[in-house]
Amino acid sequence: MKESTMPKTVGIIGGGQLARMMALAGLPMGLQFRVHDPAIDACAGQVVSLSNGRFDDEAALAAFAGGLDAVTFDFENVPATSVAALAAQVPVHPDARALATAQDRLVEKACFNELGIPTARFVDVVDRAGLDAAIAQVGAPAILKTRRFGYDGKGQFRLHSADDADAAWAALGDRLDTSGLILEAFVPFVRELSVIAVRAQDGSFATWPLVENWHVDGVLSASLAPAHVDDGTNQQAIDYARGLAAALDYVGVFALELFDCGDVLLANEMAPRVHNSGHWTIEGAETSQFENHLRAVLGWPLGDTGARGVSCMLNFLGQLPDAPALMHVPGAHWHDYGKCPRPGRKTGHATIRAEDTVALASALEQAGERLGRQPQVAPVIARLRAD
Ligand code: AMP
Repeated sequence: MKESTMPKTVGIIGGGQLARMMALAGLPMGLQFRVHDPAIDACAGQVVSLSNGRFDDEAALAAFAGGLDAVTFDFENVPATSVAALAAQVPVHPDARALATAQDRLVEKACFNELGIPTARFVDVVDRAGLDAAIAQVGAPAILKTRRFGYDGKGQFRLHSADDADAAWAALGDRLDTSGLILEAFVPFVRELSVIAVRAQDGSFATWPLVENWHVDGVLSASLAPAHVDDGTNQQAIDYARGLAAALDYVGVFALELFDCGDVLLANEMAPRVHNSGHWTIEGAETSQFENHLRAVLGWPLGDTGARGVSCMLNFLGQLPDAPALMHVPGAHWHDYGKCPRPGRKTGHATIRAEDTVALASALEQAGERLGRQPQVAPVIARLRAD
């Protein structure tokens, strides 16, 4: 077989639902996959071959990478040092520098600001007295966050006033040594947006239409795409993502989460991987985030990121709702990650796609009723009907 026709094998560090959806996108393209995860029941292992090992076990990772054409990850807390070591053996995308930047909120926000991407005010907190000084500098309300290992609102404490400093320290002070701490000004945003972007190895860059997101308890609940934004906001968001991707020489898909404050867009964080707010692209875009990530990682040309109609993604945590109930709804697509339900655990999602906003609002009303999830769809319907 000519080398160019040999099936390519991609390794994914982390075997959760993102790896699973990546594999499900790549298998029809003739790709093969191996995933590596500490959990013996990692859900991508139901679809492709799974090896078990720790993310910081460089010997295990080196064994995993034997014979692979490229490696990527579905989890941003893989140690950047492991990724750097692996890169000597096999191409790894995104690279260790991009990963390390996104892993630390302080480094990440400093990088944004250097690139002219504005953020909320923030201060590194190095001890208890430093928290008081940070509150004086940043103001209140504010959010104390761990610099590392935080996601989905975990590792965060909201301070309403300086009087909450002791409570904040009691909640997170013991994370200082392992994760670092940062105090951020609370942003009174109008709404949350994300840009899902992809950059190829030749530097070509594309974004999917902007996404509007709703969170509950810091976890994504619903996404609407394309978000209804004015041209200036749209261009600003794309320019921020493009600048960031170029500065990091980024390869692959990433998400840039933004707070829309009405007159200004502030960057919250970047996720150096395919992202929950991009799941709608599986049915709602010409090329999904998962397919384009693989194309980028393998050095292939990118696919069209244009939207097909209007889509809403609903996240499901814990026990999944009744799948057949949703299937009555026009344009509904069901995704079950094959995970054991636990409270707060992401176990699946649905994407509802329609030709226009009127049809999508009506389909979402039906979905809300059939699933008994009216509160989850209500803000999306309100947005669709307001615009
Ligand atoms: P994060 O883990 O930083 O993505 O935060 C999770 C969610 O918490 C965000 O999507 C926001 O809804 C909220 N949040 C985080 N940081 C701030 C902030 N500085 N001001 C207001 N809300 C925030």
